[in-house]
Amino acid sequence: MTKPYDDDNVFAKILRGDLPANKVYEDVHALAFHDINPQAPVHVLVIPKGRYVSLDDFLAEAPDALVVGFFRAVGKVARQLGIAESEQGTGYRAMANAGADAHQDVPHLHVHLFAGRPLGPMLVT
Ligand code: AMP
Repeated sequence: MTKPYDDDNVFAKILRGDLPANKVYEDVHALAFHDINPQAPVHVLVIPKGRYVSLDDFLAEAPDALVVGFFRAVGKVARQLGIAESEQGTGYRAMANAGADAHQDVPHLHVHLFAGRPLGPMLVT
């Protein structure tokens, strides 16, 4: 069962404007900003504008328009960053950690976009 949403999580604070973020994209459904501790030359996080703990919570509970709008925004961000394989870029990895086994640290759904170097195998171990 999904734990309750914590309004004090760091991404809730960014959405409220209580914490700064290096924003790259924003629309009615989503906000994207650079990860504070980048793991690749491009490391951007895309978050939905809504109180969703994880991908599991989001896909179960969010209205259809938000689910579609959010994932459209993920695609727009990748194209805007120039990392989409169909344009100049050489591809990217989109990843959403959900729960303890996946080491999800921030309990607000976020999709990581990694790019800018060969990203190696999908799982290290
Ligand atoms: P995860 O382990 O999937 O929950 O990833 C959380 C990510 O959030 C990590 O890559 C962190 O570096 C990133 N992060 C934490 N705080 C901030 C912040 N204030 N601004 C941008 N990224 C952050």
